[in-house]
Amino acid sequence: MIARRSPSELEKLHRSGLLVHQILQRLSGMVAVGVSTLDLEHEADRMMRDAGAKPAFKGYYSQAAGTKFPYVLCVSVNEEIVHGMPSQKKVFRAGDVVSLDTGVQLNGYFGDSAVTVALDPVTPETEKLLRVTRECLDRAIQQTVAGNRLADISGAVERHAVTEGFSVVREFVGHGIGTSLHEEPQVPNYVDRKNDNPRLKEGMVLAIEPMILAGRPESKVLKDKWTAVTKDGRNAAHFEHMVAVTNNGPWVLSRPA
Ligand code: MG
Ligand code: MG
Repeated sequence: MIARRSPSELEKLHRSGLLVHQILQRLSGMVAVGVSTLDLEHEADRMMRDAGAKPAFKGYYSQAAGTKFPYVLCVSVNEEIVHGMPSQKKVFRAGDVVSLDTGVQLNGYFGDSAVTVALDPVTPETEKLLRVTRECLDRAIQQTVAGNRLADISGAVERHAVTEGFSVVREFVGHGIGTSLHEEPQVPNYVDRKNDNPRLKEGMVLAIEPMILAGRPESKVLKDKWTAVTKDGRNAAHFEHMVAVTNNGPWVLSRPA
């Protein structure tokens, strides 16, 4: 069952999405050589408290990990794809590719979004990886219209990434979002012919999150049970928006209009 949200519910999701947007904007501006990933965690935590929001990630139980995630923020650097854990020991260095992913719960409705930023000197490959991942998300958003099917979104991401010489990770996917962080349906970044391919209807809200790899598609999870990295050690990028299907086309809830 894919939930369909009323206009007033979409407004609440928009408020949650905008808070995540503000946090990610602030954290992106803090990413600099010598800053630790735990510094970003503290700032995100402070902003959530100030807004009266609850963190969506801290305490989130994953069956695969067998533990609850201990932080409000995921910071994934270079070959880390998603679910990197903040640490005081992890300090940004020149040339790092930094993915920031966070979520909140505000008035019972969830927000979830991610961005990737790069520190100078930015190599041509990194610049292309970030641009293509952003374009994958833009193309997927354009497909988030009533009457289309889920595979139109997945296919838009996969086709663009592969055409540009990159890979998509298959072990991690986007998701529906609303009164839970992760709802039906799963939103893969590849066309999944083994699962159903629901038609998109007004009021559905999807967290679309291309995770694009510079090299091979294989990933593995580190001993901390959470951090997903590329097997070949090459860089990854991750952008995410919450997108509502409306009669006026896609509505990106995790950024200002
Ligand atoms: Mg998400
Ligand atoms: Mg996210």
